[in-house]
Amino acid sequence: MSFRFPPPLENLIRELSKLPGIGGKTAQRLAFHILSLPENQAQMLAGAITAAKTSMKYCSVCGNLTDQDPCVICSDEKRDRSVICVVENARDVAAMERMREYHGLYHVLHGAISPIEGIGPEDINLKQLLVRLQDSEVQEVILATNPTIEGEATAMFAARLIRPSGIKVTRIAHGVPVGGDLEYTDEVTLSRAMDGRQEIK
Ligand SMILES: [Zn+2]
Repeated sequence: MSFRFPPPLENLIRELSKLPGIGGKTAQRLAFHILSLPENQAQMLAGAITAAKTSMKYCSVCGNLTDQDPCVICSDEKRDRSVICVVENARDVAAMERMREYHGLYHVLHGAISPIEGIGPEDINLKQLLVRLQDSEVQEVILATNPTIEGEATAMFAARLIRPSGIKVTRIAHGVPVGGDLEYTDEVTLSRAMDGRQEIK
C-alpha cells in the first residue's frame, strides 16, 4: 500500500494541486507551509479566499471582475465612452490598465472561440457586446484578443458581426508576440500594439 497522509492533510494537498501551475510536489510543499503558519495567519488565508469568492463578481455591463456592479471602469464618468476594447479575460483588463494610456471602456469575453475545445461563439460573452453596441455612442471597437489561433478567430468572428453596424473595428498590431498572452506582455509592447492598431475592413 502506498503511503498516505492523514485525510485532512491529503484533502488540502489535493485541493491545492487543482490550482493552475501547481503540481503534486508543490501542493505538498504549500500544504506543509500552511500547516506551519500560526493559527491566525492560516485563518487569514482561508478568510481571504472565502471573502474574495463571495464579494467578487462579474460586471453586468462589461464582464470585468468587480466587487461593485457596474464596475469602477464602467461607472467612471471620465472614461471615453466612444471606444470599447475587447479582451479575453479580466487579467487582460489589468494588463491594459497598468499601461495607463487607454481611457476607454472594456468588454471581457471570458474566453475565445476554439472549435478544437468545443468552444463556440455562444459560449463566450459576445452576445452581450452586440447588445451593448446597440444605441450606444461607441465609435470604435478595438479587438485585443490574444495573438493565438483562437484569439485571431475570435477577432475575425467579432469583426464580421460588428462591421454591419457601421462602427469602426480595429485589431491591435503585432508586437504582442504571436502565441503570447496579452497579460504577460510588457507595457511598452502593449502600448505600441495599441498605437499600431489597424482597421478591419
Ligand atoms: Zn464594467
